[in-house]
Amino acid sequence: MNDFLKTPIEFLKGVGPQRADLLRQELGIHTFADLLNHFPFRYIDRSRYVTVSELSTMETAAQLRGRIIAVSESGVGRTKKLSAKFQDESGIIDLIWFQGIRWIKPLLKIGIEYQLYGKAKFYGSSWNMPHPELTEWKDVLLKTGLQPVYSTTEKLTAKGLHSKGIEKLTATLVSQVKGKLAETIPTAILNKHHLIPRESAYILVHLPSIENDFHRARLRLKFEELFFLQLELLLRKSITAQKSKGFVFNEVGTIFNHFYHEYLPFPLTGAQKRVIKEIRKDFISGQHMNRLLQGDVGSGKTLVALLTMLIAVGNGFQTALMAPTEILASQHLETLSEFLKDMPVKVSLLTGSVKKKDRVSIHEGLEDGSIHILVGTHALLEDAVQFKNLGVVVIDEQHRFGVAQRARMWKKNTIPPHVLIMTATPIPRTLAMTFYGDLEVSVIDELPPGRKPVNTVHRYEASRLRVFGFMKEEIAKGRQVYIVYPLINESETLDFNNLMSGYEAITRSFPLPDYKVSIVHGKLKPEDKDYEMQRFIKGETQIMVATTVIEVGVNVPNASVMIIESAERFGLSQLHQLRGRVGRGAEQSFCILMTGIKLSKESTRRMETMVRTNDGFEIAEVDLQLRGPGDLMGTQQSGALDLRIADLSRDAQIVIMARDEARGLLDLDPGLDRPQHMTLKEILREILKSRPDWGKIA
Ligand code: ADP
Ligand code: MG
Repeated sequence: MNDFLKTPIEFLKGVGPQRADLLRQELGIHTFADLLNHFPFRYIDRSRYVTVSELSTMETAAQLRGRIIAVSESGVGRTKKLSAKFQDESGIIDLIWFQGIRWIKPLLKIGIEYQLYGKAKFYGSSWNMPHPELTEWKDVLLKTGLQPVYSTTEKLTAKGLHSKGIEKLTATLVSQVKGKLAETIPTAILNKHHLIPRESAYILVHLPSIENDFHRARLRLKFEELFFLQLELLLRKSITAQKSKGFVFNEVGTIFNHFYHEYLPFPLTGAQKRVIKEIRKDFISGQHMNRLLQGDVGSGKTLVALLTMLIAVGNGFQTALMAPTEILASQHLETLSEFLKDMPVKVSLLTGSVKKKDRVSIHEGLEDGSIHILVGTHALLEDAVQFKNLGVVVIDEQHRFGVAQRARMWKKNTIPPHVLIMTATPIPRTLAMTFYGDLEVSVIDELPPGRKPVNTVHRYEASRLRVFGFMKEEIAKGRQVYIVYPLINESETLDFNNLMSGYEAITRSFPLPDYKVSIVHGKLKPEDKDYEMQRFIKGETQIMVATTVIEVGVNVPNASVMIIESAERFGLSQLHQLRGRVGRGAEQSFCILMTGIKLSKESTRRMETMVRTNDGFEIAEVDLQLRGPGDLMGTQQSGALDLRIADLSRDAQIVIMARDEARGLLDLDPGLDRPQHMTLKEILREILKSRPDWGKIA
């Protein structure tokens, strides 16, 4: 980078040491480069004026031109109010101030022409504008064109660095950049996507004269930001790949083939086949596999996991399948044992509640290699669990496992076993590319044939009796029903009381001996939880009242109704997971979202989305727009969250474009050694140095 950009901010005309301190503390602006990268978050169209008669409450702000015809003050103390009547050729609007009255009043001159700017409201029978921006017409500098608006803070505002103050500083700086902002992106890429040069982009993003200016400027700057991020990810990935050797499974093996040809109960879907091929390729590559398998609920990930493990077993290796809960682990054990019942493959279960003496024999079986597949929970991670030759670890529902825990799995063989992470919470493609940029990603984007999509409806409390009636009809047909309560924080008494009173209401409306009801929540002892769960799984109870403990994985194909209480309190991905508990059998299934009458805009959007679609990837996209990438990805440390101008929830197209170009560039020049890539290499070297640790995800 050149020296001009590294100049400390206090050397900019109009800044000085005191303001420089504040800029550093409040906005992290240390250098000229930092100020240039403090982008406007919106622009005000200063060329557009409306008249009072054209005002609309839909506009976020309006600009008018007219005169003040009267000023008055009313109230005392806290109710004190300053008003002014502002008139243009079409009508009158009241301007109102509740604060700063003492210094604003003397500035209001009757009969003089002003530019007025603010948000207009319609109240009673007239228009008003609280705390407007008012500038005497003769002092208006920017009579046309676009004015940038910058974020600032209270402390900066007090020192004259409100948006306009920052605008002035930025304009000063921008006037000096000519010839000082070297191009960073190869010309071929610029031309291909019609991106404007870097220097013009910085000038136009701060000083646009027409809308198209800032669009073009922002596109260029977003692309640049994402392009370097993708280059960084790809470079890190290739560095990791070079370093980490993996076991080679040369053949598919007789075990896999035997199972595939003799016992596979149904043909694989096209997507399942494709994923197996992708995994096969990793297994013969000699490199360590780190693969994320995304597939919607019910897409058949377990079978893919099984086939993956059978390849390893056929090559003389052991495998482990790790699940986040005991219930899930035992279900996996059952599923796998059923699939493998006529195969010479030994599957065992290891969880926290396995008895000491059984545990000893499992440890032995693992050490002498007689156990081929070990299914379990966190208990697998304990140091006492040693394998003869662990080759593959499959992790189900990865969001429940921390990075450190996963790392412990690596140490269970001389070189790390291959890792396949399965997640049923689809991650939008752009996020997957960015956050898991160093993992390979496989997607099962096809459900097994014959599935009936779950029929989802949204109901208010007033329809409860009808909902109960519907439950009775379904139960009469021999089906089972889940009712889920939002015990999001298991320790919250209020939530717990809701659950218990809900349970009581259910037992009253669905009395013994015709109906039997199970209840599962976090306060139950594990053995009681398991007992209740098993009764429902075996069909001994028809109704399962539960908290979100049943969220993931549980498989009861006969359950056809999912009722979610206070559905507005759940996030989209949670709602989708819960809905995934039904629709697993041949019958038409239903999901009923119960909510209160008053819903926020966001909750309404969530309900609408659930009713509209069953597609987990589409739901994930909406979730991303509602919550933003930071919330969606949790507290994961990542440079992808430090983006200055690009927005992962809105700029999907640009992410993909940047990814493709970054990949193309590295294919052409892996070491970035060509002379025209010198600047690029230099910038990347600095980036890699400044974020040494991130990217180590699995
Ligand atoms: P998930 O991806 O949610 O873990 P599962 O692996 O539990 O999904 O699969 C859901 C159901 O679909 C299971 O009952 C499984 O046996 C069945 N299934 C998986 N693959 C196929 C297929 N290719 N054809 C038909 N049914 C399948
Ligand atoms: Mg599953």
